[in-house]
Amino acid sequence: MSRFDLIIQNGTVVTASDTIRCDVGVKDGRISSLAEHLTDAEHVVDAEGMFVLPGGIDAHVHLDEPPFYGILLNDSFETGTKAAAHGGTTTIISFAQQQKGRSLRDTVSEYHTKASDKAVVDYGFHIILSDPNEQVTSEEIPALVDEGYTSYKCFMTYDGYLDDGQILRTLEVARRERAMVMIHAENEHCIRHVAKRFVDAGQTSLDYFPKMAPMCVEREGTHRAISMSELIDVPILLVHVSGREAMDQIRWGQDRGLKIYGETCPQYLLLTDEVYKKQGWEAAKYLFAPPPRDTQNPDALWRGIATGIFQVISSDHNAFQFDSPSGKKAEGPEPHFRKVAPGIPGVEARLALVFSEGVSRGRIDINTFVATTATNPAKIYGLYPRKGTIAVGADADIAIWDPEMRRTITHDLLHEDVDFTPYEGTEIKGWPIKVFSRGDLIVSDGNYVGEEGRGRFLRRDRVNIHPPQGSPLRDN
Ligand code: MN
Ligand code: MN
Repeated sequence: MSRFDLIIQNGTVVTASDTIRCDVGVKDGRISSLAEHLTDAEHVVDAEGMFVLPGGIDAHVHLDEPPFYGILLNDSFETGTKAAAHGGTTTIISFAQQQKGRSLRDTVSEYHTKASDKAVVDYGFHIILSDPNEQVTSEEIPALVDEGYTSYKCFMTYDGYLDDGQILRTLEVARRERAMVMIHAENEHCIRHVAKRFVDAGQTSLDYFPKMAPMCVEREGTHRAISMSELIDVPILLVHVSGREAMDQIRWGQDRGLKIYGETCPQYLLLTDEVYKKQGWEAAKYLFAPPPRDTQNPDALWRGIATGIFQVISSDHNAFQFDSPSGKKAEGPEPHFRKVAPGIPGVEARLALVFSEGVSRGRIDINTFVATTATNPAKIYGLYPRKGTIAVGADADIAIWDPEMRRTITHDLLHEDVDFTPYEGTEIKGWPIKVFSRGDLIVSDGNYVGEEGRGRFLRRDRVNIHPPQGSPLRDN
């Protein structure tokens, strides 16, 4: 019997903190040795000239959820996780969305049925709270945290938004149970007010979409969330932060010593509100909430990543079809900014976009890339050190990257089950050529070569973060 099942040799191994030339030895699905000149394996892969990175973790993925704006997401757990794997992502955390009046227990069992035997990479579930009633906060959440559902998402916007009292009760149970609360921070009342003025004036084309939710609407929600986090004395994570004004609020909270975490997404780093100059339906390919901001904004967000304000970069993958009566055009024939489903696909291109625009262009170093796309989400969501790093004992979730490979992103290149990509034509430098999950080669030179349905549910740990000081509730 060989000492290793797999050796990846001659590559440059990168973690969130170090860049080292060494071989990686894998046994029984885990990394068992990091050393020079390893020998004695069933399989040897030469990674000369390549980066050997932890497989990506995409902590914000929507798959197989109920209709939104009347239409369904197209990706299943099978197609969505295969697309993730092609892009170098070996773990996703997707959402189990509570329908109003439904128990969380029923909700998670429904999503297990959707995912099991279909997902090809490992997965966990965040639970979207639509109805955090007494039963949910006092009984269901404590039981579910115990079983590995350690993060909960609250919306401040959309029809199913939670009011501040509901969010405060959620933060309280999260503090007690050491769970993470993710907040979509936009002020629903501001959006409704502005949108109504536009609609009343007959201004309904898609370029009104960003205008109904400008940066101040996100800034206010972000500040309110931070204040509630301080009051309850519990960490929170602001999801898909789009603008520098919300980012400045996060930095303000962090400077006060509060445990405020921030996530941003490639769409805010690459796209701007110039996309809404596209005429007719074309702009629907770029409709997502919050919207992308002005042309100065991406540089500000990159600096926020480089300086540690943002810990996480996720895709917020929402695979709505574009040119289909069951897709964004469902409400046709004319596009209307309040009727087109917001959301775009991105689970496959996320890593390449951030690698190319960030690392290859010198905006962030490769260790920051690994930290924000793998290690930090693992730490924040209770998966570390099993996932998100290259270390002895960790799962052998590894992507081998060719930093010189050039590709042009087109819809045809991608495996997402959707009819467009908002990144069509984007030139990329740096691409994952081989992807391993628990030691299994699952993607090789553009082909999925793993078994079907091999992904496993991840029971995640409680949040291991010391809470901040100073809340009036601290000793309760
Ligand atoms: Mn959201
Ligand atoms: Mn989302």
